[in-house]
Amino acid sequence: MADLDYEGFWNETLIQLRNDLGEEEFSGWFSDMKYLRAGKNSIIVGIPSAFHRDKVKSRYLSIINSKLKELSGMEIAFETEIIGKTAKKTAPQAQSSSKSEDTAANSAEKAQKSKEKRGKHPQMRDDYTFDRYVIGENNGFAANAAIAISKNPGKAYNPFLIYGGVGLGKTHLMQAIGNFIHENSDNKVIYITSENFLNEYLEGLKPQEHGQNTMKSFKNKYRYTDVLLIDDIQFLTDKPGVQEELFHTYNALLDAKKQLVFTCDRPVSELKKFSERLISRFELCLKVDLQPPRYEERCAILRATAENRNAQIPNEVIDLVSKNISSNVRDLISALNTLIAYTELMGKPITIEIAQQRLKNLFNAPRQANLSMDNIIRVTAEYFGLTPNDLKGKKRSQNIVFARQLAMYIGREMTDYSTTEIGQDFGGKDHTTVMHSIDKIKGKLLTDSTLEATIDSLKRAIKELGVKY
Ligand code: ADP
Ligand code: MG
Repeated sequence: MADLDYEGFWNETLIQLRNDLGEEEFSGWFSDMKYLRAGKNSIIVGIPSAFHRDKVKSRYLSIINSKLKELSGMEIAFETEIIGKTAKKTAPQAQSSSKSEDTAANSAEKAQKSKEKRGKHPQMRDDYTFDRYVIGENNGFAANAAIAISKNPGKAYNPFLIYGGVGLGKTHLMQAIGNFIHENSDNKVIYITSENFLNEYLEGLKPQEHGQNTMKSFKNKYRYTDVLLIDDIQFLTDKPGVQEELFHTYNALLDAKKQLVFTCDRPVSELKKFSERLISRFELCLKVDLQPPRYEERCAILRATAENRNAQIPNEVIDLVSKNISSNVRDLISALNTLIAYTELMGKPITIEIAQQRLKNLFNAPRQANLSMDNIIRVTAEYFGLTPNDLKGKKRSQNIVFARQLAMYIGREMTDYSTTEIGQDFGGKDHTTVMHSIDKIKGKLLTDSTLEATIDSLKRAIKELGVKY
């Protein structure tokens, strides 16, 4: 080891990085580093702060590693030690310090410092930010409204209500608003799930001990905030007391021009057992819905999330997962987590074979696509140039009967609905009709060699569509 010039490799790496990255980017991140010493197959470089280290590692580690390997012909690990701001500049032809004042690293670090002053918001996840929210056609309107609100709370769109099915990004988007306002202003932000809101309210109703007035402090807490984010309001169904309290909180905050944001897993019109006046308040909100991501959006989400986690996922694996998981973003990300965990534990890169094998169960889960019979009926009808009502109705012309039987067969294959439930979705047909239809298709499959391909392409189209609201 003694005869290998580790410091020389490092200096050469820096020279090449400066060439590759350009002066500005290079001096922002690398000119404050200092070569310290060689370890066993590693070099140890001093770096000003943990923030700086994390940023450099997440952005440049793979390029640093590959340069070190290219130059030395062996694996040399890049290790760091935090040495504080006073680091001497040892980068070749280092820049004068005044130039580095407004570099990317410095301004990012300044932003980080001011965030540290205020601290992470205690109730929200700090990774639920706009930077980590992939915007596509399915959520563009909601995301842009959310961004506008963040920049102008209480003014832009107030109150605001985000609705959509499970795992589509409601909580993430809501907390991105909260995190942005918390970081960039002195406004007080409260995030709470409806469940906890209810619990605190019930706590407030309890008989008082030691003269504390918990109901009063509950009211004060929620009526003197600048931004109130309440997640999953559908949970308050059939709870008239807390609904009344929320109604008054809503009015008080809106009068004071404070920002209100709600999320809900369904359209307001479908909320049951809510007081009429609270519903009328929700109806006043700017209501935006989140749709399930389509194939391209699913790929983009997987790519961005893998990058944030520093995981290398080949394009064909991204394609495989996106094609097979169309239900929602949560399922998509949990598939990705499975793959990342596997490679981390096994130390092997992800291949398409590994992905296929690891995710087999997820891909085949019947309800994974949250498939509704409505979607199955719609896609099948469209395929045959018919309307959903043709399939649900009683017409007996040959092509309609065939399409109807096929949709029933696919429904039985792709979902775990019973034949009775499927019959209901076809305009209230008897379960024996459904069973008879399925048998018919099974019989045809034995003789018609093209039918299987038709069924497969219908299934793909149905999966691709995902959930619709
Ligand atoms: P919901 O509240 O609608 O059930 P969440 O906000 O909990 O959904 O989102 C589920 C997961 O999917 C979270 O990990 C979230 O970060 C991620 N996610 C959802 N939408 C997006 C998006 N557009 N870009 C990146 N990640 C997303
Ligand atoms: Mg949620």
